[in-house]
Amino acid sequence: MGRSSTTRRLLAGSAAAVALCLLATGCSRPVDGIPTANDEPKVDTVAGLPASDGPSGRKPGATDAKLPVVGSTGGEIDTLAVDTVADVREYWKTAYPDTFDGTAFRPIARLVSYDSRNTDRRVCGQRLAGSANAFYCPRSDTIAWDRGVMLPKLRNTFGQIAPVTVLAHEIGHAVQHRAGLVDEDTPTLVSEQQADCFAGAFFRHAAEGSAPHIRVSTGNGLNTVMGVLSYIRDAPGRTGFADPQAHGTAFDRVSAFQYGFSDGPSRCAEITEKSVAERTTQFRFWKDKQESDLPVEPDNIRAVARSLRKVFGDTGFAPPRVILDSRSCAGAESTEPVSYCVETNTVSVRLPGLRELARPPANGERSSGYGDFAAYAQLASRYTLAVQESAGLSLRGDAAGLRTACLVGAWSGLLVEDPLGQRNPVGKLRIAPGDVDEGVAALLGDDSLIAADLTGSQVPAGFPRVEAFRIGFQQGMSPCASEYGA
Ligand SMILES: [Zn+2]
Repeated sequence: MGRSSTTRRLLAGSAAAVALCLLATGCSRPVDGIPTANDEPKVDTVAGLPASDGPSGRKPGATDAKLPVVGSTGGEIDTLAVDTVADVREYWKTAYPDTFDGTAFRPIARLVSYDSRNTDRRVCGQRLAGSANAFYCPRSDTIAWDRGVMLPKLRNTFGQIAPVTVLAHEIGHAVQHRAGLVDEDTPTLVSEQQADCFAGAFFRHAAEGSAPHIRVSTGNGLNTVMGVLSYIRDAPGRTGFADPQAHGTAFDRVSAFQYGFSDGPSRCAEITEKSVAERTTQFRFWKDKQESDLPVEPDNIRAVARSLRKVFGDTGFAPPRVILDSRSCAGAESTEPVSYCVETNTVSVRLPGLRELARPPANGERSSGYGDFAAYAQLASRYTLAVQESAGLSLRGDAAGLRTACLVGAWSGLLVEDPLGQRNPVGKLRIAPGDVDEGVAALLGDDSLIAADLTGSQVPAGFPRVEAFRIGFQQGMSPCASEYGA
């Protein structure tokens, strides 16, 4: 997050048009080049499935799948991998012809298990020694995985569902090659997002209980899957992944996963170079120009408050006072580190707690913080409660939590600077792509206010939390009230 070096004039009319749409249905901010899914969010579900926490990974008691694997030692990781490949293959046996004009799905030609600590094997002309990876090689139609380092590390860090996620994604690459959706010139970003989307389609099948060996819960299970997608990267040099910078942000990847999960595999085929490029040129532009941190200081808190006031100004809301202490609020629980008091229309900020959250994650792993944007998004979330209060909306319950995430997303989307003139950024604050990822990480965590109601009660499943934020980010305020009404 950073400040724009020059004051940008708000293009006449744009903010007013956006803001007045808050309560109107069927009115949305026109944003060219931002693909929007046919989302029909339901407040208490995960893309229409019941939201629940529960175990994810291999189903207990399922008979091990049998598939020939070159180099397998039949250990735990290989068993999990084979069960996964068998289930994903089974899924595509039906889904592939349904999606691609009745064409039958050709099984993956070769599966290879290797131990990167100790192998002299080569796949795709590459030495596997020292390559902690899992990948698809289109030339020999091979899926290979490192059972020695990479998959065990993921399993130990995230649980059994992590290797499943990686392999479903790699088979997504096999699907896109079979369907002719990619060739040598396809940018990595496009093929990555398609593969994430295809993985999402499989995970819906698993979440519905239809996969014979693999299960995933729609609450903490999918939270983990989306966390893994944010974490993993393909190694360069395979399936054309030449540019290590071009893998997309966590926000891109999780969005693509959600498209596949919510709308099915035909949505994935619509992820094209054009649709992705329109988004990514913006991201690259901001990254060069605007990447910076905004330390949690009183001055910057005031700048964020001004930005929020400007973005929501034309809704006719009564702007809350933002104060730097935790003043008590009669008849209401306070939330940490920021709380909203309806009675006094005040947002109170506790600086130490907010600074904790603003600490950057170390080496991509979370320490105690998520980064500056995640911290300011907590402030924004409490601030949008004042917007909702003025609009006569309820501040309690899951609908309020999702509306809050959506409005925080809408605010973030209006801080985006766009070289093509498709967006009209509001105020002086700007966000960078890493900022959005901080927001996604916080939304997938269990301690964020971004998708929480007045009492700090967070919407239970991470999927709808991220989805609501994304819808606001991409489409502006208007769906926040219409989709998450009541
Ligand atoms: Zn990939």
